[in-house]
Amino acid sequence: MAVRPKRLGGRPAGERRREQEEERRRAYPWRAWYGTAIWRAIRRDQLSREPLCRRCGKRGRIEAATVVNHVEPHRGDWERFVGGPFESLCKACHDGEVQREERAAARRAMAEAGVGG
Ligand SMILES: [Zn+2]
Repeated sequence: MAVRPKRLGGRPAGERRREQEEERRRAYPWRAWYGTAIWRAIRRDQLSREPLCRRCGKRGRIEAATVVNHVEPHRGDWERFVGGPFESLCKACHDGEVQREERAAARRAMAEAGVGG
């Protein structure tokens, strides 16, 4: 009778990726809200009312918006998530914003854990 050999040196990469994904879902459960019908309706409505990137517009550039951003971070608050206010952004502006937000959140978490200054 064959015995499956024990794996040495850790688990397959796919398994680790799934765990990381699971970790993110636990840390940011509101990410699932972006898949809801109400969010899709909000997004469609916002992009039809404001089809150009607001931040590019402030710099005198005309760029099509593809992302609806919360002007005030909703921080997992459903009322804010669906209530806005919103702004239309292009992907480049949005990604820059999200990265800045996530760095700030990471700094807050570290400060709360007593790490760093
Ligand atoms: Zn932009």
